[in-house]
Amino acid sequence: EYDFVVEDVSKVFVGATRVQALSDIDLKLKRGSFTCIVGPSGCGKSTLLRIIGELETATKGHVEINVPESRVPRSAFVFQEHGVFPWFTVLQNVAFGQQMAAVGKKEREQNARRWIAEVGLSGFENAYPHQLSGGMRQRIAIARAFATGSPVLLMDEPLGALDAQTRMLMQEQLLHLWEIEHKTVVLVTHAIEEALLLGDQIVVMSARPGRIKEIIDVPFGRP
Ligand code: ADP
Ligand code: ADP
Repeated sequence: EYDFVVEDVSKVFVGATRVQALSDIDLKLKRGSFTCIVGPSGCGKSTLLRIIGELETATKGHVEINVPESRVPRSAFVFQEHGVFPWFTVLQNVAFGQQMAAVGKKEREQNARRWIAEVGLSGFENAYPHQLSGGMRQRIAIARAFATGSPVLLMDEPLGALDAQTRMLMQEQLLHLWEIEHKTVVLVTHAIEEALLLGDQIVVMSARPGRIKEIIDVPFGRP
């Protein structure tokens, strides 16, 4: 039932100074759920996301992962910016994420076209990212993450760099994509309205050291 069970996790970065980024984190991620992590800058949101995504290890505690390993990486990532390759077209960018999957070129391209259509970029397959708006570039990154076939989608402020109106459109679009394919999603944001709109579980964090202040379940909250 749970893809991830985070138990008593702490993270300390030791460099010029010692930074306790996370302290005693307990969190469960249900398969197919949409979790939003919200809190002030520096409270450890990205660090927690990176630990869930196996990009970082905990200093203390344990993360139980029940997502089967396959040819496809467990997690696909979407970051705030710089998530697309400028020298690739839209189609190449979206198809690229599937290199790991054991499918043929033709199938990869078909799948990429499908996700390009789902994010509303049909007609732009052969465009390069610099020819498109910021919102459209983020849609490329999101389409690619879905196209990978990874069962877990981890997003760090994916809409953070967008203007308010584009951001609202993209929130709708994220929900639409998640309804098509119920991946286990974790989205980091500093915007509580965004968390309330998107999440069925909202993790509210506080800083110094990064702790979970409360976890809000929104079972019927979605409009
Ligand atoms: P948030 O995503 O909530 O803004 P982060 O997880 O990025 O917070 O950072 C939490 C704390 O850990 C911050 O004080 C940050 O400076 C520190 N930190 C993050 N990554 C590193 C790192 N690689 N080395 C040292 N300190 C780090
Ligand atoms: P922004 O992120 O700048 O607010 P959007 O991603 O919401 O823009 O794009 C709004 C619409 O404007 C797109 O769906 C597209 O139809 C059109 N558009 C934006 N940039 C271009 C472009 N370079 N070429 C053609 N149409 C574009």
